[in-house]
Amino acid sequence: MARYTESVCRLCRREGAKLFLKGTRCYTKKCAFERRPTPPGQHGVRRRKVGDFGLQLREKQKVRRTYGVLERQFHNYFVDASSRPGVTGENLLRSLELRLDNVVYRMGIATSRAQARHFVAHGHFSVNGRPTNVSSYQLKPGDRIEVRETHRAREPFKVAKEMLRSHQAPEWLSVDAANLAGAIVAPPTRDQMPLDLNEQLVVEYYSR
Ligand code: SF4
Repeated sequence: MARYTESVCRLCRREGAKLFLKGTRCYTKKCAFERRPTPPGQHGVRRRKVGDFGLQLREKQKVRRTYGVLERQFHNYFVDASSRPGVTGENLLRSLELRLDNVVYRMGIATSRAQARHFVAHGHFSVNGRPTNVSSYQLKPGDRIEVRETHRAREPFKVAKEMLRSHQAPEWLSVDAANLAGAIVAPPTRDQMPLDLNEQLVVEYYSR
Protein backbone atom coordinates (compact mmCIF):
# COMPACT_ATOMS: atom_id res chain seq x y z
CA MET A 1 0.00 0.00 0.00
CA ALA A 2 1.60 3.27 -1.15
CA ARG A 3 1.52 6.18 1.27
CA TYR A 4 3.05 9.58 1.90
CA THR A 5 6.08 9.25 4.19
CA GLU A 6 7.55 12.78 4.38
CA SER A 7 6.87 15.39 7.07
CA VAL A 8 3.14 16.01 7.25
CA CYS A 9 3.52 19.44 8.87
CA ARG A 10 5.04 20.60 5.58
CA LEU A 11 1.68 19.87 3.97
CA CYS A 12 -0.17 22.21 6.34
CA ARG A 13 2.39 24.94 5.71
CA ARG A 14 2.12 24.36 1.94
CA GLU A 15 -1.69 24.61 2.02
CA GLY A 16 -1.68 27.61 4.37
CA ALA A 17 -4.07 25.90 6.78
CA LYS A 18 -4.06 23.48 9.65
CA LEU A 19 -5.03 20.06 8.27
CA PHE A 20 -4.82 18.32 11.68
CA LEU A 21 -2.69 15.43 10.45
CA LYS A 22 -0.77 14.75 13.66
CA GLY A 23 -3.42 14.15 16.28
CA THR A 24 -3.05 15.76 19.69
CA ARG A 25 0.09 17.70 18.72
CA CYS A 26 -2.02 19.81 16.36
CA TYR A 27 -3.83 21.30 19.36
CA THR A 28 -0.64 22.33 21.18
CA LYS A 29 1.91 25.12 20.82
CA LYS A 30 4.23 22.61 19.13
CA CYS A 31 2.14 22.79 15.94
CA ALA A 32 4.57 23.70 13.14
CA PHE A 33 1.97 25.79 11.34
CA GLU A 34 1.39 27.92 14.46
CA ARG A 35 5.11 28.51 14.76
CA ARG A 36 5.86 29.08 11.04
CA PRO A 37 2.77 29.63 8.90
CA THR A 38 4.75 30.23 5.68
CA PRO A 39 5.10 27.72 2.82
CA PRO A 40 8.08 25.37 3.26
CA GLY A 41 11.34 25.76 1.37
CA GLN A 42 13.90 28.44 0.69
CA HIS A 43 11.49 30.64 -1.28
CA GLY A 44 8.47 29.95 0.90
CA VAL A 45 8.12 33.52 2.11
CA ARG A 46 8.14 34.99 -1.42
CA ARG A 47 4.83 36.62 -2.39
CA ARG A 48 3.29 35.02 -5.43
CA LYS A 49 0.28 35.85 -7.53
CA VAL A 50 -2.19 32.98 -7.51
CA GLY A 51 -4.54 32.59 -10.48
CA ASP A 52 -7.74 30.54 -10.79
CA PHE A 53 -5.83 27.37 -11.62
CA GLY A 54 -3.57 27.84 -8.60
CA LEU A 55 -6.57 28.21 -6.30
CA GLN A 56 -8.24 25.11 -7.71
CA LEU A 57 -5.04 23.07 -7.47
CA ARG A 58 -4.39 24.11 -3.88
CA GLU A 59 -7.93 23.24 -2.83
CA LYS A 60 -7.72 19.84 -4.50
CA GLN A 61 -4.44 19.16 -2.69
CA LYS A 62 -5.94 20.34 0.59
CA VAL A 63 -8.87 17.93 0.36
CA ARG A 64 -6.66 15.07 -0.78
CA ARG A 65 -4.11 15.62 1.96
CA THR A 66 -6.75 16.05 4.65
CA TYR A 67 -7.94 12.49 3.98
CA GLY A 68 -4.46 11.10 3.23
CA VAL A 69 -5.35 9.82 -0.23
CA LEU A 70 -2.83 9.58 -3.06
CA GLU A 71 -3.37 11.26 -6.44
CA ARG A 72 -4.66 8.40 -8.54
CA GLN A 73 -7.04 7.13 -5.90
CA PHE A 74 -8.34 10.65 -5.34
CA HIS A 75 -9.03 11.01 -9.05
CA ASN A 76 -10.94 7.72 -8.96
CA TYR A 77 -13.07 9.12 -6.13
CA PHE A 78 -13.83 12.14 -8.29
CA VAL A 79 -14.78 10.04 -11.34
CA ASP A 80 -17.10 7.95 -9.17
CA ALA A 81 -18.62 11.07 -7.52
CA SER A 82 -19.34 12.70 -10.88
CA SER A 83 -21.04 9.57 -12.22
CA ARG A 84 -23.56 9.51 -9.36
CA PRO A 85 -26.71 11.65 -9.08
CA GLY A 86 -26.49 14.73 -6.85
CA VAL A 87 -23.89 17.43 -6.34
CA THR A 88 -20.48 16.12 -7.41
CA GLY A 89 -18.46 17.96 -4.76
CA GLU A 90 -20.73 16.73 -1.99
CA ASN A 91 -20.66 13.17 -3.35
CA LEU A 92 -16.87 13.33 -3.32
CA LEU A 93 -16.65 14.47 0.30
CA ARG A 94 -19.26 11.91 1.35
CA SER A 95 -17.26 9.04 -0.17
CA LEU A 96 -14.15 10.27 1.63
CA GLU A 97 -16.03 10.61 4.91
CA LEU A 98 -17.33 7.05 4.61
CA ARG A 99 -13.88 5.51 4.30
CA LEU A 100 -13.25 3.11 7.15
CA ASP A 101 -10.15 4.98 8.41
CA ASN A 102 -12.04 8.28 8.49
CA VAL A 103 -14.97 6.74 10.35
CA VAL A 104 -12.62 5.29 12.99
CA TYR A 105 -11.17 8.80 13.39
CA ARG A 106 -14.62 10.42 13.57
CA MET A 107 -15.71 7.86 16.17
CA GLY A 108 -12.90 9.18 18.38
CA ILE A 109 -10.94 5.93 18.62
CA ALA A 110 -7.92 7.47 16.86
CA THR A 111 -6.50 10.97 17.24
CA SER A 112 -5.76 11.38 13.52
CA ARG A 113 -6.70 9.72 10.25
CA ALA A 114 -3.13 8.43 9.98
CA GLN A 115 -3.45 6.67 13.33
CA ALA A 116 -6.85 5.31 12.32
CA ARG A 117 -5.35 3.92 9.13
CA HIS A 118 -2.59 2.29 11.14
CA PHE A 119 -5.11 0.63 13.46
CA VAL A 120 -7.16 -0.64 10.53
CA ALA A 121 -4.12 -1.90 8.62
CA HIS A 122 -3.07 -3.92 11.68
CA GLY A 123 -6.37 -5.76 11.67
CA HIS A 124 -7.86 -4.36 14.87
CA PHE A 125 -11.29 -3.67 13.33
CA SER A 126 -14.21 -5.59 11.99
CA VAL A 127 -17.13 -4.41 9.87
CA ASN A 128 -20.44 -6.21 10.38
CA GLY A 129 -18.56 -8.90 12.29
CA ARG A 130 -15.95 -9.54 9.57
CA PRO A 131 -12.33 -8.55 10.22
CA THR A 132 -11.05 -6.05 7.67
CA ASN A 133 -7.71 -4.31 7.21
CA VAL A 134 -8.66 -2.17 4.22
CA SER A 135 -8.58 1.48 5.26
CA SER A 136 -10.39 2.67 2.12
CA TYR A 137 -13.32 0.29 2.74
CA GLN A 138 -16.52 2.18 1.81
CA LEU A 139 -19.10 2.04 4.57
CA LYS A 140 -22.82 2.50 4.10
CA PRO A 141 -25.78 3.20 6.38
CA GLY A 142 -26.40 0.34 8.78
CA ASP A 143 -22.80 -0.88 8.84
CA ARG A 144 -21.40 -1.64 12.30
CA ILE A 145 -17.71 -0.99 12.96
CA GLU A 146 -16.00 -2.28 16.08
CA VAL A 147 -12.65 -3.04 17.61
CA ARG A 148 -12.35 -6.82 17.47
CA GLU A 149 -13.21 -8.37 20.80
CA THR A 150 -9.84 -10.04 21.31
CA HIS A 151 -8.04 -6.71 20.67
CA ARG A 152 -10.03 -4.51 23.06
CA ALA A 153 -7.76 -5.09 26.06
CA ARG A 154 -4.74 -3.70 24.20
CA GLU A 155 -3.23 -0.45 25.44
CA PRO A 156 -4.23 1.91 22.58
CA PHE A 157 -7.85 0.88 22.96
CA LYS A 158 -7.83 1.33 26.72
CA VAL A 159 -6.69 4.89 26.00
CA ALA A 160 -9.33 5.24 23.29
CA LYS A 161 -12.07 4.19 25.70
CA GLU A 162 -11.07 7.07 27.97
CA MET A 163 -11.00 9.50 25.05
CA LEU A 164 -14.48 8.45 23.97
CA ARG A 165 -15.95 9.73 27.23
CA SER A 166 -15.46 13.32 26.12
CA HIS A 167 -15.65 12.84 22.35
CA GLN A 168 -18.55 14.24 20.37
CA ALA A 169 -19.16 12.10 17.28
CA PRO A 170 -21.02 13.61 14.28
CA GLU A 171 -24.81 13.07 14.04
CA TRP A 172 -24.52 10.57 11.19
CA LEU A 173 -22.56 8.20 13.41
CA SER A 174 -23.73 6.43 16.57
CA VAL A 175 -21.02 5.38 19.00
CA ASP A 176 -21.15 2.63 21.62
CA ALA A 177 -18.20 3.66 23.80
CA ALA A 178 -18.40 0.65 26.14
CA ASN A 179 -17.84 -1.77 23.26
CA LEU A 180 -15.58 0.49 21.16
CA ALA A 181 -18.10 0.23 18.36
CA GLY A 182 -20.11 2.47 16.10
CA ALA A 183 -22.66 2.38 13.31
CA ILE A 184 -23.43 4.54 10.29
CA VAL A 185 -26.85 6.06 10.91
CA ALA A 186 -27.20 7.87 7.57
CA PRO A 187 -24.96 9.23 4.83
CA PRO A 188 -23.52 12.57 6.02
CA THR A 189 -24.96 15.74 4.53
CA ARG A 190 -22.65 18.66 3.70
CA ASP A 191 -23.50 20.57 6.87
CA GLN A 192 -22.70 17.45 8.92
CA MET A 193 -19.16 17.38 7.52
CA PRO A 194 -17.26 19.98 9.53
CA LEU A 195 -14.66 20.79 6.89
CA ASP A 196 -13.14 24.11 5.97
CA LEU A 197 -12.88 23.06 2.32
CA ASN A 198 -14.34 24.38 -0.93
CA GLU A 199 -15.20 21.24 -2.88
CA GLN A 200 -16.52 23.30 -5.80
CA LEU A 201 -12.95 24.35 -6.60
CA VAL A 202 -11.98 20.66 -6.75
CA VAL A 203 -14.78 20.04 -9.25
CA GLU A 204 -13.55 22.99 -11.32
CA TYR A 205 -9.99 21.65 -11.18
CA TYR A 206 -11.02 18.32 -12.72
CA SER A 207 -13.45 19.96 -15.18
CA ARG A 208 -10.79 22.02 -16.97
FE1 SF4 B 1 -0.52 20.51 10.71
FE2 SF4 B 1 -0.87 19.22 12.98
FE3 SF4 B 1 1.61 19.62 12.03
FE4 SF4 B 1 0.15 21.62 13.03
S1 SF4 B 1 0.94 19.84 14.13
S2 SF4 B 1 1.34 21.68 11.15
S3 SF4 B 1 -1.93 21.08 12.33
S4 SF4 B 1 -0.02 18.36 11.10
